[in-house]
Amino acid sequence: MYPLILTILSLPAVWAASDGQNGEATWATKYNFCGGVYQSPLDFHHSILQYDSTLVPIKVNGYNASITDLFTLSNNGHTVSLSMLPSMYIEIPPFKYFASHIHFHWGDLASPKGSEHCVGGKRFAAEMHIVHYNSKYKDVSIAMNAADGLAVLGILIEVGSFNPFFDRMISQLTHVQYKGQESQIPGFNLQDLLPERLDEYYRYEGSLTTPPCNPSVLWTVFRNPVFISEEQLRSLVTALHCDDGNGSDPVEMTNNFRQLQQEGERLVSVSFREGVVMAVALASILGSLVIIGVVCYLFNRKRRSKKNQPKKVVYTLAMATDENTSKV
Ligand SMILES: [Zn+2]
Repeated sequence: MYPLILTILSLPAVWAASDGQNGEATWATKYNFCGGVYQSPLDFHHSILQYDSTLVPIKVNGYNASITDLFTLSNNGHTVSLSMLPSMYIEIPPFKYFASHIHFHWGDLASPKGSEHCVGGKRFAAEMHIVHYNSKYKDVSIAMNAADGLAVLGILIEVGSFNPFFDRMISQLTHVQYKGQESQIPGFNLQDLLPERLDEYYRYEGSLTTPPCNPSVLWTVFRNPVFISEEQLRSLVTALHCDDGNGSDPVEMTNNFRQLQQEGERLVSVSFREGVVMAVALASILGSLVIIGVVCYLFNRKRRSKKNQPKKVVYTLAMATDENTSKV
């Protein structure tokens, strides 16, 4: 049911989350896509953003699982993953995408900034990915080999107040400390893990951020982050290991985020105007104000310099006449 996880589990151990950038550097030698185009993640900076009025709010379907449904939380050696139900799906016209699973990316205690996507150069504390696959394919492992195979929702995570919904998973992390371990979690409404505004997001065509880096993902990264407490982030960052716990040298699961990739010719569509169109408008207004300011300054300067010039005194002879005097 979760072939993507199985696929990743079955890959030869040429990379590890704990290897950080060194591990990443070797990906392309084994997996061609990792050194190719259309790679993820990206930094969403103004010069590549483009407002798209056709982007409608994201609607998730069937996310409200019953308490009697069971989710499986598992450690696959690279991340912690939560299974989803086959009845869960999203629609991004013209396709319908079935839910596969949720997983996370994060940093470490010394540098607790581990989101994959960045906004204007800012990296967030962590990032959650909800993986879906195109319903026209039989399963996620087949879909991931097709250009239109996957649709992933990206949720940026920032430190703030305690999040009871995320805690349903975070509080169970001690049960999946080591690779291969699993734990069952009673169902809950997965929509509670999403930010409130599902109408504001970045959309672009990219890839899996782990080997084999297939360029098969339609990315939707929500503009607004969700918040978890500092304590919750610490639990996520420190609880897990990449190894199975049987060796003498435990390998902490930290910094499992991929470095930013080149956007190349790609543009990122955005569903919201603020910060993009508004920035352009603001820049125009500021530009106009600067021009008006400069013109005013030059005008005033010219006037002042005129004022300071010695006045030309015209001496005229008083032509007082008897007639003038008589008028006073
Ligand atoms: Zn991911």
